[in-house]
Amino acid sequence: MKIQQIIGDFLDANVFLVEKDGQALIVDSGASVDKIKEALGDKKIVGALLTHAHYDHACHCLDYAKDFGCKIYVSEHGKEILQDHEKNYSEDFEVKNFSVFQFLKGDGAMRIGDFEVQYFATPGHSPCAICYKIGDDLFAGDTLFSNSIGRTDLYKSDKKEMIASLEKLDKIEFKTCHSGHGEDSTFDRQKRNIKVFLRFLQR
Ligand SMILES: [Zn+2]
Repeated sequence: MKIQQIIGDFLDANVFLVEKDGQALIVDSGASVDKIKEALGDKKIVGALLTHAHYDHACHCLDYAKDFGCKIYVSEHGKEILQDHEKNYSEDFEVKNFSVFQFLKGDGAMRIGDFEVQYFATPGHSPCAICYKIGDDLFAGDTLFSNSIGRTDLYKSDKKEMIASLEKLDKIEFKTCHSGHGEDSTFDRQKRNIKVFLRFLQR
């Protein structure tokens, strides 16, 4: 499995291209179709996973569905945020037709193309936050950063939910954490990160 990091158009949000055997999964959609195509080569996109519905991560998802003919996977709690530009923090991005979306509920596992994807509901930064695990790699969106965690002062952010999500993530094994912004981090680094921020949040 190969993972490419592509920097998106807004707030330097990360997009990841996860590749295996000629297939590719996209994590988040902040980068234009052209940027994706440049990195993709001759591989086939089999799906796009959204870590949450904020504009910097969701802005090009409909373009991906149209250009690559793939489904968009998002938390069931993402619908109301995708529908309303004030809730997704954009000027005018609003999804009206959800036919290309597959809504995910709670925790679970699914097969997309040749990829086995585990997903974990991790509300706190946003009610629609999901972390995905593919192989030994965790895609943490704006829940975990290399040195920090996501903001909990946005629409339907929730500190108590963030605490529960961090406790959940603390029990998940992985090798590398790929965050929604900034650089990758290791399992050991995230173990320390989670401990520190649990102490902050519990005050
Ligand atoms: Zn966000």
